[in-house]
Amino acid sequence: MRKVGIVGWRGMVGSVLMDRMREEKDFQGFETIFFSTSQAGQKGPDVGQGESILCDAFDEKLLKTMDIIVTCQGSDYTKEMYPKLRASGWKGYWIDAASALRMKDDSIIVLDPVNRSVIDNGLAAGIKDFIGGNCTVSLMLMAIGGLFHENLVEWISTMTYQAASGAGAKNMRELLLQMRHITKSVNSLLDDPQAAILEIDRAVSESLRGKDLPTENFNAPLAGSLIPWIDSFIPETGQTREEWKGFAETNKILATSTPIPVDGICVRVGSMRCHCQGLTIKLKKNVPLEDLTNIIKNANEWVRIVENSKEETLKHLSPAAVSGTLNIPIGRIRKLNIGPEYLTAFTVGDQLLWGAAEPIRRILKIVLEYLHRG
Ligand code: NAP
Repeated sequence: MRKVGIVGWRGMVGSVLMDRMREEKDFQGFETIFFSTSQAGQKGPDVGQGESILCDAFDEKLLKTMDIIVTCQGSDYTKEMYPKLRASGWKGYWIDAASALRMKDDSIIVLDPVNRSVIDNGLAAGIKDFIGGNCTVSLMLMAIGGLFHENLVEWISTMTYQAASGAGAKNMRELLLQMRHITKSVNSLLDDPQAAILEIDRAVSESLRGKDLPTENFNAPLAGSLIPWIDSFIPETGQTREEWKGFAETNKILATSTPIPVDGICVRVGSMRCHCQGLTIKLKKNVPLEDLTNIIKNANEWVRIVENSKEETLKHLSPAAVSGTLNIPIGRIRKLNIGPEYLTAFTVGDQLLWGAAEPIRRILKIVLEYLHRG
């Protein structure tokens, strides 16, 4: 029986992965060994294979006995353990949610509803490293993969509205703490329907700028505000690293021979776990809106077209509607008045599901099936 080692299973992405694997009854046909960097020797999760004891995630000898290692532990762990395992001659499959190995020449960024053929060709060619993509890029490709497949995209500009969860569990908590702190400052005024709105606003602004607002993780107010900066600075281009990933990862996922320009501004907003994106797409030719909508709709089973009406938009095209689901709604689809080859759309997706855990869950199944056939 194949051995699958799972590292990082209790973190945020790892927990979502575990939930999805349980939900889909994935824990069958292979032996699962759970690892931890901090809790070796303690009780591990029971996934229907009996009680387990957590193994040491730094135990190179044991890791080398795995056919597949799935890690949601983070880039520091990958950078420490991956080179050691490969240098020691380990030939197993490495499946990783972290970004460390994404741009390596012989790794594949996985998003199988969009790049299944790239994955299959990679497996046949002996590729062993399969890495989950950046959440924003994966969600954009889940939404408009059809347009790329039909070779209709000349360039794309994506302006993002990214959730707190992308920055980690502590940041999600900090967003809520900020909300509590701000509302506390105006509680009595809110209870008084006669209170002047400008007085309330003044109190909110004061608390946003005050030194007591919790900002340890975001370094700025997010609740009642936004942060147009995600990740580190790339001085050569003026982009943030998150913006840089749009071009680099989109083209790697699609394995394009001529790179398609992708760029925009990435903004952190006060939603919990859903990223949104406003897209401007320059098409290679003028295609009727109805045909474009059908192409988008038929690309995969999770994309949902939202009719361009206020009622449907408010009902279906928001983090509140999408959080915790695999749906990828895309709406506000129309031609821009800039010209008939310019399309705009707005899309939403849960960044912990399609943006992180789901592509990892699916590639594990694909690799296991490949080994089974093999
Ligand atoms: P995380 O929640 O910080 O978890 C990482 C590890 O922290 C856990 O596996 C666990 O390892 C340890 N840990 C320490 N205290 C913990 C606690 N109280 N509860 C749970 N775990 C605790 O990391 P993450 O946000 O899932 O991200 C993991 C990787 O996925 C990163 O490389 C990240 O960049 C990538 N990723 C994240 C997202 C996202 O939206 N967050 C999206 C795509 C990719 P031990 O059991 O070994 O102690």
